[in-house]
Amino acid sequence: MALLEQLAAALAAGEVEVVDLTAPLSEATPILQLPEPFANTRHFALHELSRYDERGPAWYWNDITTGEHTGTHFDAPVHWVTGRDGADVSQVPAGQLVAPAVVLDAAAEAGADPDFLLEPDHILAWTKTHGPLPEGGWLLYRTGWDSRADDAAAFLNADETGPHTPGLSVECARWIAEETPLIGVGVETVGTDAGAAHGFDPAFPCHSFLLGAGKYGLTQLRNLDRLPPRGALLVAAPLPIVGGSGSPSRVLALVER
Ligand code: MN
Repeated sequence: MALLEQLAAALAAGEVEVVDLTAPLSEATPILQLPEPFANTRHFALHELSRYDERGPAWYWNDITTGEHTGTHFDAPVHWVTGRDGADVSQVPAGQLVAPAVVLDAAAEAGADPDFLLEPDHILAWTKTHGPLPEGGWLLYRTGWDSRADDAAAFLNADETGPHTPGLSVECARWIAEETPLIGVGVETVGTDAGAAHGFDPAFPCHSFLLGAGKYGLTQLRNLDRLPPRGALLVAAPLPIVGGSGSPSRVLALVER
């Protein structure tokens, strides 16, 4: 049987499961909140055009308003000043939107310390157990933060000193960008950087180094606990917004059962 026929048969038989890593998109979806004087994105919203009424008797439809960086979304290189000459979200090659993914589980560490930062040594320890990082693949960084995703205050976890959510250290972001074969990092939090990363040097290092290296980010993922440490195939589907810096995305993982 041809390879894709085998895959279709395995999907039908439940031998390959499709796990949805996407958060539902609604007005309640938590969004990033930057301090003054920075501009902020808007909440997702539906604007009803007709609902089987005089505006359209047989049909229901809406306009939507959304930020590019709202909910589960894809960061393109051009999102950051370090990647300003790189790809916009419509220019990301389709062949890179289907790629292997590995999962590093730091939920215990992030549960104990909301400012937990992943270091290269954590990833190197993972590779000793699970093998090398995948060429052209994703590192999905599980922190347990998806359990807070329906409560914006708990999800953003801000106090008078700013947001406290897990992320990557400066050195880890630089190392992933420059010394690993990964194409991107996916996280459960509102952005790929730690809540406190505005104070790092450089600020927001995950954005700065990865997007500057032509790599990508995925945020607000969920259900990473349903993926194996390695062996999943990730499908990330941002809209091809011409000139866009990112896009809300459906993100799916194919997993062998
Ligand atoms: Mn973003």
